[in-house]
Amino acid sequence: MLDVSRPEDFRLSVVVPCYNEAAIIGTTYRRICEVLADREFQLQIIFVNDGSKDATEWILRAITFADQRVKLLNLARNFGHQAAVSAGLEAAEGDAVVVMDADLQDPPEVVLTMIERWRAGYDVVYGVRTKRKEHIGKRALYSVFYHLFRWVAYIDAPLDAGDFSLIDRQVLLAVNRLPEKNRWFRGLRTWVGFKQTGVFYERQARAAGTTKYPLMKLFALAADGVFNFSTVPLTIVFVLGLAMSIISFAAAVAVLLLRIFDITLLGQRIRDVQGFASTILTMLLIGGIQLISIGILGEYIGRIYQEVKSRPPYIVREMSSSKPPAALRESAAPLKPARTEPEHAA
Ligand code: UDP
Ligand code: MG
Repeated sequence: MLDVSRPEDFRLSVVVPCYNEAAIIGTTYRRICEVLADREFQLQIIFVNDGSKDATEWILRAITFADQRVKLLNLARNFGHQAAVSAGLEAAEGDAVVVMDADLQDPPEVVLTMIERWRAGYDVVYGVRTKRKEHIGKRALYSVFYHLFRWVAYIDAPLDAGDFSLIDRQVLLAVNRLPEKNRWFRGLRTWVGFKQTGVFYERQARAAGTTKYPLMKLFALAADGVFNFSTVPLTIVFVLGLAMSIISFAAAVAVLLLRIFDITLLGQRIRDVQGFASTILTMLLIGGIQLISIGILGEYIGRIYQEVKSRPPYIVREMSSSKPPAALRESAAPLKPARTEPEHAA
């Protein structure tokens, strides 16, 4: 038991990013209410509509209209999953905040366990997937990524933990204060520290609709993780470059000596060696390494460029809830439409 006191009647915010989830979002809302409403705590649900092109917005509008606990953020376009999560986190008012997929892959029941851990004093309780009911290829990719990430990253990220988690308000404020534009929630959540723990759960198959993470987007997410939380690729490039330079230098000295002293090696003298194949191979090898190195540098420079431009990671087109206007104004006051204020723009 940790030495922390939590408020008896606290408020829980559940942040749900939604992109084209019309097939499932109504069910998700009902399940969240079934499990988390009418308990000792107050429930707030924040749906972030990330520029959906289907009926998601209208279903969410109807839900928001009928339920005062719900707050709806409509982003100005599709800004991507991580930006949508950030938008939801900025709007969350709870003492504890949960981030959850819209497709019921993260079972709401697990949130009750997370709350228990939070009450026991933990500030971050993240879900760790024990079994994934997903395609074997995708599972293998996830596994390779998480192991690679643990190896290169400068944060001690737990294996197989995704965005599904509960964080304390203090952690929320710390994460929201981080100025970076390219946001990777599970990394930021780990980076801020505090008392963290995991709860195991079985990751369900998507209840309806299709994944919004095709392979390419999954790779992009993985690249964000690695390049945002590690400079090991740069070190690898440096070590590789150093090794190649040493080999090249040694070879150059050897060739020079063979030429100067006209030494016969393997029955041949350097003078009459044709050397076409070896020249081409060396060039290709060095050229290849150089291109990869430039590519890796490019990944970092691209990210630096993005941060320097300081554009907000998302723009809220509209925020609605069915509270009476005065209350709406009050609750809207501490919210910012996007991270454009000077203290965040640093
Ligand atoms: N999502 C989003 N914007 C996007 C892509 C996805 O808000 O551009 C949401 C999506 O609606 C879901 C969550 O992010 O709630 C995770 O996406 P998905 O379930 O498709 O990913 P998977 O679980 O298959 O990795
Ligand atoms: Mg999902």
